[in-house]
Amino acid sequence: MKVLNVQSAGRLAWIEAPSPQLSSAHGALVRPIASASCDLDRRLIAGITPFKPPFALGHECVAEVLQVGEAVLTVRRGDLVSVPWKIACGNCPQCLAGRATACTTVPRHAAYGVPAGGHWGGLFSEVVDVPFADAMLVPLPPGLNPLAVASASDNLTDAWVATSRPISTRENARVLVVGGTESLGVLAVQMAVAAGAGSVDYLDDNDYRRDLAVRSGGNVDLPTILDERYDVVVSATRDHQSLHRGLLALAPGGHCSCIGIIFDDPKIPLFGMYLRDVTLSVGLCNVRPHIPKVFDLVSSGRCDPLMVSPTVVSPDEATEALLDPLAKCIMVRECIT
Ligand SMILES: [Zn+2]
Ligand SMILES: [Zn+2]
Repeated sequence: MKVLNVQSAGRLAWIEAPSPQLSSAHGALVRPIASASCDLDRRLIAGITPFKPPFALGHECVAEVLQVGEAVLTVRRGDLVSVPWKIACGNCPQCLAGRATACTTVPRHAAYGVPAGGHWGGLFSEVVDVPFADAMLVPLPPGLNPLAVASASDNLTDAWVATSRPISTRENARVLVVGGTESLGVLAVQMAVAAGAGSVDYLDDNDYRRDLAVRSGGNVDLPTILDERYDVVVSATRDHQSLHRGLLALAPGGHCSCIGIIFDDPKIPLFGMYLRDVTLSVGLCNVRPHIPKVFDLVSSGRCDPLMVSPTVVSPDEATEALLDPLAKCIMVRECIT
């Protein structure tokens, strides 16, 4: 089978590899049919993360189920499923506490498409082993466009959790989204609107994303001074100064969700935050329990993830399209079951 591999920094190629076999009675083999690029992927390809090539790329997709182990109860051959980015058993104390990201049955940080806890394959590949099918896979409801939820594995659900959690405890929340990565900021604008925010402002100097943010219900005409204006800030940037500005834009009692992955140590305005009595949350998203809600939001038209994924490509075109610096892209292949 073919695997989309980051071969070396900046070099992406399809390589031949043995097809995976079912790893246990609880596992499934799936074939990704709509794979999306995560905002992290371009940096993984460029080799500017702690995770060094070679490795198989991809940790967002909808797949068709090819084969299931005899103990699998919730999916069967032919089902379309969302495949979460994180490998997790669903049964260890961490998983049962809702922290699949800290699953103790597999190496810490075991995931698709990022060699942080071993190599588990990538979700652009032709066939992928899912070791815990019932705990991980989420079947799509009938009629839901697989392309629209290709990113439910990570970015789309991350945007929902980062916005809806703090908005749900604040009436008419004034929200600021600090953009900067390809899709997360605009998705956060859509999700903040869907979560019932009172207002959603979007801060970004990129005209393409600003336009998408406006079309998503955000406002981009912001005052020069943002200090203490917002109940909720969603920071989807890697820029240290923008994060700093976002943190000081929090009103007393505010909450900042930091979802742009920053690998180094930015300066945090701790005393300014102390004086405002604010909360900063940062961490990997436990997507699995929230994916059905994200399916509902997409089905009902309350968010439009395809707006941030305008490029749909074949496997042959993917190696070039994935280098596009602006847009999230979706790679498709036909179903075979
Ligand atoms: Zn990701
Ligand atoms: Zn576990």
